[in-house]
Amino acid sequence: MHHFAYRDGVLFCEEVSLAAIADAVGTPAYVYSTATLRRHFQVFRDAMAPLDPLIAFAVKANANIAVLHVLAQDGAGADTVSAGEIKRALAAGVPPEKIIFAGVGKTRAELGFAVDVGVGQINVESPGELVELIACAQTRGRKAPVALRVNPAIGAGGHDKIATGGGDTKFGISLADAPALYQAACQNPWLVPRGLAVHIGSQIKDLAPLRTAFQRVRALAETLRADGWPVRHLDLGGGLGAPYFDEPDPPSPSAYAALVKDVFAGFDAAFAFEPGRLIAANAGVLLTRVIRRQPRPERDILVLDAAMNDLVRPAMYEAYHDLKPLQEKDAAVETIDLVGPVCETGDTFAKGRTMPRLEPGEAAAFMTAGAYGAVMASTYNARPLVPEVLVSGDRFAIVRDRLSIEEQMGRERLPPWANAEPTPP
Ligand SMILES: *Cc1c(COP(=O)(O)O)cnc(C)c1O
Repeated sequence: MHHFAYRDGVLFCEEVSLAAIADAVGTPAYVYSTATLRRHFQVFRDAMAPLDPLIAFAVKANANIAVLHVLAQDGAGADTVSAGEIKRALAAGVPPEKIIFAGVGKTRAELGFAVDVGVGQINVESPGELVELIACAQTRGRKAPVALRVNPAIGAGGHDKIATGGGDTKFGISLADAPALYQAACQNPWLVPRGLAVHIGSQIKDLAPLRTAFQRVRALAETLRADGWPVRHLDLGGGLGAPYFDEPDPPSPSAYAALVKDVFAGFDAAFAFEPGRLIAANAGVLLTRVIRRQPRPERDILVLDAAMNDLVRPAMYEAYHDLKPLQEKDAAVETIDLVGPVCETGDTFAKGRTMPRLEPGEAAAFMTAGAYGAVMASTYNARPLVPEVLVSGDRFAIVRDRLSIEEQMGRERLPPWANAEPTPP
């Protein structure tokens, strides 16, 4: 469920017409719905009651400070993968103790920063990282709260590029290596051992791999406890899929919660979850306008003003995003290719899409673009960085400006020697 719907033929986000935003802000532009973000967070929290877990929103899905602030106000923590994301979470009002710091390549500087600001949990992914973390904690005279991210040798997810739990991915410590490393963490005076973390992939629709992964985590936790090591926290990661089109049976937080409760029945622990896509995907759209129509013998091409630099998911993961006209159309549909202006064949949103006919100048919205959209945007082809807008009820505000080409060029300069050298003939 989300708060983007037609009213009298006009596509609204909550109480605001998206056409009004397109006119005021221009296109392309991301638009997020506060009510949808809050609702998804609430549904997840309700499903997980009475576990009363920490729900740490995965900042990498949508890092806008205004979005993080909405969730922080409802009690969300933050799952972060860089010092930059920690800074964003703090700026948005997430208390440090609700921040989880994960990621396979945390630098010593980033680990030090995380210890300095007092994040609640650092998920260590390798023996080398544990050594670095101990050094950081010791230098600062401050203990570091640590969990081991294990790789349960089972991957899942909507695309190879987003499956993280398979044995040969770069993520996590193998189940075989985990006990010795956890013991080392428990015995070190500069670490506070919390427990285990796992995250096996993204856009997961089939719960079976999650069940297997969680069973393995429970078995490992029981082994560690039997050996006398404290395992108080279990961080079960994110990954539950969001519906990208009208699916008959979308992945449901309640089924997911039932699975967690079943696997961990009788196992007393403090749980954490790191949903990203599930919370944000359906809470955002990307507004775009048709630049022109290119007739082709087979089927026409619609050239849009949004491109792969604004929304890379179709180019990178063959992802599907529905394109809805802002002004609802009569039943006449056509089959068409949807492309952006970037000079790459990969800059194609859809091939052979059947949808209502759109004319040049008309605006439309790519749906389900609130997660892994704006965060992955670039300025490729010297395009302005796409702006972001937040809607709440009948109000909207620009929460990230469109970064103009002049602002981008303003950060570049010729090297000092450029003017001294003779110009080549
Ligand atoms: C990406 C990621 C998440 C969020 O994944 P979603 O599929 O967006 O829920 C959570 N935890 C970790 C460690 C991640 O890398």
